[in-house]
Amino acid sequence: MSASHSANTIQTASTNEHYPHLFEPLDLGFTTLKNRMVMGSMHTGLEDRFYNYGKLAAYFAERAKGGVAMMITGGISPNREGWLLPAGGTMNTKADVINHQRVTRAVHKHDSKIIMQILHSGRYGYHPFAVSSSPIKSPISPFKPRKMSIKNIEQTVKDYARSAKLAKQAGYDGVEIMGSEGYLLNQFLSSHVNKRKDIYGGDIHGRMKFAVDVVKAVREATGEDFIILFRLSVIDLVKDGNVMDEVITVAKALEEAGVTIMNTGIGWHEARVPTIVTSVPRAAFVDFTAEIKKHISIPMMAANRINMPDTAEEIIAAGQADMIQMARPFLADAHWVNKAKNGQTDRINTCIACNQACLDHTFENKRSTCLVNPQACYETELVYKKTKKPKKVAVIGGGVAGMSAAHVAALRGHDVTLFEAKDVLGGQFNYAKVIPGKEEFFETIRYYINELEHLGVEIKLNTKVDKDMLEKAKFHHVIVATGVVPRSLEGKLEGAELPQVMSYAELLSGEKAVGNTVAVIGAGGIGFDVSEYLTANHGKSLDEIGPEGLKDPSYRPEPQSINEWREEWGVTNDTDYQSDGGLVRPAVIKPIRQVYLMQRSKGRLGSGLNKTSGWVHRAHIKSYGVIQVAGVQYEKITNEGIWVINPQGQSQLLRVDSVVVCAGQESVVELMPNVGDAPDAQYHLIGGAKLAAELDAKRAIRDGAEVAAQI
Ligand code: NAP
Ligand code: SF4
Repeated sequence: MSASHSANTIQTASTNEHYPHLFEPLDLGFTTLKNRMVMGSMHTGLEDRFYNYGKLAAYFAERAKGGVAMMITGGISPNREGWLLPAGGTMNTKADVINHQRVTRAVHKHDSKIIMQILHSGRYGYHPFAVSSSPIKSPISPFKPRKMSIKNIEQTVKDYARSAKLAKQAGYDGVEIMGSEGYLLNQFLSSHVNKRKDIYGGDIHGRMKFAVDVVKAVREATGEDFIILFRLSVIDLVKDGNVMDEVITVAKALEEAGVTIMNTGIGWHEARVPTIVTSVPRAAFVDFTAEIKKHISIPMMAANRINMPDTAEEIIAAGQADMIQMARPFLADAHWVNKAKNGQTDRINTCIACNQACLDHTFENKRSTCLVNPQACYETELVYKKTKKPKKVAVIGGGVAGMSAAHVAALRGHDVTLFEAKDVLGGQFNYAKVIPGKEEFFETIRYYINELEHLGVEIKLNTKVDKDMLEKAKFHHVIVATGVVPRSLEGKLEGAELPQVMSYAELLSGEKAVGNTVAVIGAGGIGFDVSEYLTANHGKSLDEIGPEGLKDPSYRPEPQSINEWREEWGVTNDTDYQSDGGLVRPAVIKPIRQVYLMQRSKGRLGSGLNKTSGWVHRAHIKSYGVIQVAGVQYEKITNEGIWVINPQGQSQLLRVDSVVVCAGQESVVELMPNVGDAPDAQYHLIGGAKLAAELDAKRAIRDGAEVAAQI
């Protein structure tokens, strides 16, 4: 390692009383990072169009204000072949430099650092100019890449160097060279794609030559006082992926070539192992980072499913990494770092790793935002201005729509009362949080409860409101967030009133118990969740749970341990792994119940689930032995089970002990004034009460925030 890139990575805790290791500055030799938190690269959709750079600058500035030491932009391509999407963001011209300066200046005003990520997508490019190490099409792009010639590789090295030089001119503190997640440099590093026989192929020394050449060229073009991050795939999770010894060889060579900080990448995008969805346990991959750290002397960053300060502090205190990279948690809460610093961890709006408003949006070519924070990427558009005329506001319903409305109204200075008929706040999230792998949903309820208390919202639990009461209390605004009730099939399906038939709400709230064999009616998101809930045996075998335990309605599957989770998905537990890409044979799962999951429509079950997480749910229920039935008609429910007409048109009895109805929801809107009424207050309808058909927490939280931002 050249001396100028050396860094002080010795763990000496800072004076911060809450998270001493997280707030220890990191001396890089030529510059210092004020703490150990880094916002990782995320494509927001704003970086692709120059006219959005004002919004992009506001997005980064807000997070810089929030105390983070360093941020990494979304991927910027070094040339046209490297675009992720046609006409993606670039750094090739003087005009690009001027646009990017808006971002760097906004960040530097708030004493944070900003790094531009250079991302060449290789065979993941969604356009006909895509290139790769070998002409092998990826499963996630329809375009077959062209094999890069040696001349083409040498030119691309120069393109990286030119982009980095321009990035420096634009005021960036450094660049991150994206070498993981299956993008171009990763496509050279691993034999999964690299089948070349020339100097850029063969053994690991040939396969890493391109990446090493890029780092050397970038260092030469940018000088010694410029941060170079390299995002290294510490575990490929694909067939013919690298083994740990090869990853270590690459890491050492990159350090030698001039990398300042090594970042962690986990798995290729095409890997059939989830790496960031909510069911991945927190910090599930940190020990692979720790293994690399033992072999290099530059600082190493840990990443993936780290979302709260306690986890982050433990990683650094244990010496597993020097820095923590989080991306989505900073969408969820721009002020995460300052809250941790001030001991306000309970007030962090936690990323629940749902992907619904960030990655799913990216795949739909929409601007990213955040399910739990609708202001993310809309900093200049969804503004919570202090009101000059505080109003008396009633919010009816303490689900996420109501809590969001109450939160924003109170933030703006209104006098808010929140009414909830039940004895707890959280609405449908209380059902979600008991699903195995969805424990993070608890954090959103915790966040809102703490915020509402902090802002002095009057919370009236166990209070069923009626119209008279509302009118007498003389509110200026009434926000109706009364949500939904599960659709009942009573009166629509014979036998639906039998005691062994229940709604998902009765099951998940522990009101009713089920037997050993269960039919689930309805295969939407909740049908899938319920099927996982009924079959998962995390932490305990069927013998340990026992027949009485199974019948106990309060029995909950336990959260999966990291080792158990890796065994289920076929990820090695050996940090010095010798298996290709760290993959091993997945464990055989023994479900604790037999479940039939059914829908009336024809076609694949779960086709409407979210883009980036739906495949995980489909894989889950398959490995848990759930029998999936599409194209049925329900005839009747009897004490023997459920009679259906199967897709072949025959009447058939499925012998089950219990039936759980997950057939969607209906809105509860009784409190909305009827046409012709002229109430004193202004009424607003939001969330599931407004539209049950697409009941969706993302819309519910945004609805609440938007209405409250305007009153
Ligand atoms: P949903 O997605 O609308 O699914 C309802 C299911 O019930 C459909 O599969 C429908 O299928 C069936 N159904 C509808 N009316 C019926 C009737 N009268 N009789 C029998 N079956 C009927 O609703 P959900 O599962 O309750 O989910 C609600 C929302 O929650 C979703 O839109 C999603 O945003 C969110 N969510 C998502 C996830 C996730 O992605 N993992 C998890 C939980 C919740 P057929 O008509 O084909 O029978
Ligand atoms: Fe996290 Fe979901 Fe927000 Fe994305 S949308 S940042 S995954 S909470």
